[in-house]
Amino acid sequence: DNHFDVLIIGAGPIGLACGIASQKAGRSHIIIEKGCLVNSLYNYPLNMTFFSSSERLEIGDTPFVTTLPKPKRAEALEYYRRINGKFDLNTHLFEEVTATRKDGDLFIVSTTKGQYTAQSVIVATGFYDVPMLLNVPGEDLPKVSHYYKDPHFYANQRVVVVGASNSSVDAALETYRKGAKVTMVVRGPEIGPRVKYWVRPDIENRIALGEIDVFYQTRISEIKDESVTISTPEGMIEIGNDFVLALTGYRPNFDFLRKVGIDVPNEAPMIPVHNPQTMETNIAGLYLAGVVCGGLNTHLWFIENSRIHADIIMQHILERTSSCYVN
Ligand code: FAD
Repeated sequence: DNHFDVLIIGAGPIGLACGIASQKAGRSHIIIEKGCLVNSLYNYPLNMTFFSSSERLEIGDTPFVTTLPKPKRAEALEYYRRINGKFDLNTHLFEEVTATRKDGDLFIVSTTKGQYTAQSVIVATGFYDVPMLLNVPGEDLPKVSHYYKDPHFYANQRVVVVGASNSSVDAALETYRKGAKVTMVVRGPEIGPRVKYWVRPDIENRIALGEIDVFYQTRISEIKDESVTISTPEGMIEIGNDFVLALTGYRPNFDFLRKVGIDVPNEAPMIPVHNPQTMETNIAGLYLAGVVCGGLNTHLWFIENSRIHADIIMQHILERTSSCYVN
């Protein structure tokens, strides 16, 4: 049967939390994920350490045990995989939701593998699928990447890292330690204020010692095969370059949100319309959960403060639909 009480789009930590909440409330559920389980976390840098301590990443009242206070990517993958198994969640992987529409009170949800109907739909699609672009000539060259995975690849190469947030700083430090010649290109006047407090002294010392070059108040203006042209306060400079890591952030897939009917304002911060008390969007029975709720403010929500969305939504679903059930 392809009908479910609750259909959840995205098997990130918050999508999984919504599955658990549905189960606890005695409602049938399906979680549909276009990639692997916790796909965003899987695509994080291999050596990444979370800024949250492990108990703040817990869902389903299940302890996340790690030996160090802050988990690594691999530990988080393992934790959420065990959660998915423990709660026997109905998670369909490598299946993308392409459209949803409402027919009376029922949602009809189309995916790359089939069609489902559901009484309520939760969009928990995160923000890691769409990188913020530099919009400069040469950005489409194969040497430019908006995701960073593994430092070894950059050994002995001239690497430009664009940005000064956690992703950029981690990539600059790791590739520097594998022998890359690293230049950071930073739009603002300093390293980002949200950089992990235990990482900040490391990057500041590398910069102070001249081991990592940095240009502040500078933007990339063109990327070529063998060089990068940057616009600095002192004028344009062309520097030799092999790889560009443009780690300038990510944003929710607004096209997808609009396609499923959610209103998204055109002006920043483009927060998709929803009632923060219930997480219901402008469409009755269609909810938002997790980091997608912040629009362009991708630092507003994280796992710790958005895992509660699951219970808020379920409470509202129960209030809305309890008359349909005879207990
Ligand atoms: P996600 O984990 O992004 O899950 C969304 C899922 O939806 C994805 O798996 C995606 O593939 C899927 N999806 C999207 N569109 C579709 C579709 N159409 N059909 C089917 N599936 C779809 N947060 C913290 O709390 N602590 C941290 O330390 C932390 N560190 C971070 C480090 C990095 C490098 C980054 C980028 C983010 C970090 N965050 C951290 C933020 C973190 O990404 C989120 O808190 C967390 O992933 C949010 O969970 P989510 O379930 O809302 O979204």
